Formats: sequence, C-alpha cells, structure tokens
Amino acid sequence: MHRSARSSQFRHLHDPRFVSLYSTLPNCTALAARDALSQEKSIYARTTKTTYRNGVISALAQLKRRPPAASPADTGTLEQDNERKQRAEEKEKGRLTSARIKGYLASRKDLETYGYVMGVPPGPGGDQETEEGNVRKCDRCGIDYLVHADLNEADRVVCSYHYGRQVMEKIKGIKHRVWSCCPAPGALPCQQGPHVFRVSDSSTWHTSQAVR
Ligand SMILES: [Zn+2]
Ligand SMILES: [Zn+2]
Repeated sequence: MHRSARSSQFRHLHDPRFVSLYSTLPNCTALAARDALSQEKSIYARTTKTTYRNGVISALAQLKRRPPAASPADTGTLEQDNERKQRAEEKEKGRLTSARIKGYLASRKDLETYGYVMGVPPGPGGDQETEEGNVRKCDRCGIDYLVHADLNEADRVVCSYHYGRQVMEKIKGIKHRVWSCCPAPGALPCQQGPHVFRVSDSSTWHTSQAVR
C-alpha cells in the first residue's frame, strides 16, 4: 500500500513541479527525474506511514514557490537548495561591502579635527634633518627632554606612562577620570619606555627626520 502510494507521489513531484522548474535547461527531463526521485527518497526517509502524504504536500507547496532554475547550478532537492542558500548567506555575512564599511568610516572633517594630515602641507617643507639635540615635550608623560638619536639602557626606561587613554568612570556614584588600561583612580603608570615626541606641525616635516 505504501509502495504504490510512493510511486504515485513521485509522479506529482516530477511533473509538473521539477519539470516546470527546469523547463529552460537543456537536459530538463533527466534532471527533473533525478531530483524528483531524490526528493521523494528524502521525504520517505524522514516521514512515517501516516506523515508521508503531508510531507509530499508540503514539499510540493515549497517547490511551487521556488523560482525556476536559470542554470544547472540551481537544481537539486529542497534540502540541497536550502543548504546552498545557507552557504551563500554565510559567505555574505563575512563580505566587506561598501555599505557595511560606510558606517565605520571617519569623515574627512572628523579626521581634520583630530589632527590627521589630509593634504600636502603649505610652504617649502622642513629643513631639519633630525630633531637630535633639541628639547621636545614627551608625548607620553609630558615632560621636556633632550632628544637623542642613540638610546642607552637608561634612556629605554626613563619614561613612565599609561598606554591607555583617559576615560570618565563612575566609581561608587562618583565620577573619576581614570586610565582605560588601569581603571583605578590615581593608578601608577603601568608602562616604561623611552620618551617620544610628535611633530604635529606638518609644514616642518622632513623626509629623514628622526622620530625618537
Ligand atoms: Zn596603565
Ligand atoms: Zn616620557
């Protein structure tokens, strides 16, 4: 009884469903027969004698909503089609589309506000090949120091600083300015290194300028 029901259901899946989905493909008949058979097998495997018929009806409804195959790559059972869609979605999730990147881009105006050099600086350019021997303000700890080109052992640990940035944090209801790397009020510097300076005036930049 089940066997004969099965063969009649295969016919429904094959024609019109798979045949009409594949009608523009050159080997439509063979592909439709292949997939109608696989589809019926998969329904048979996951249903019982009592749920088989509903399984076929549901598959027929889903196949009716499926767009016609444009190429052999679009063929397959409902399960294969779902798997393909899921794989495509996964692939799409990781794609860096311009629409996705847009939300993370800083505007030109913001970059200028934060001191980024956005064009060729005016003037003839810097004439100082090196900052060696000049007194500069350390960009980490803020003290004035004499710039050396060669660092000795002592120079390498002369600056104590926090690598994080200053943030406002509420501790027991009171706002404190703390370091993001050491979020306890009054935390001692967590890093040691050489003093460093930054030349913020881009019009004095020189191609061989020492940056230590
Ligand atoms: Zn720190
Ligand atoms: Zn320093």
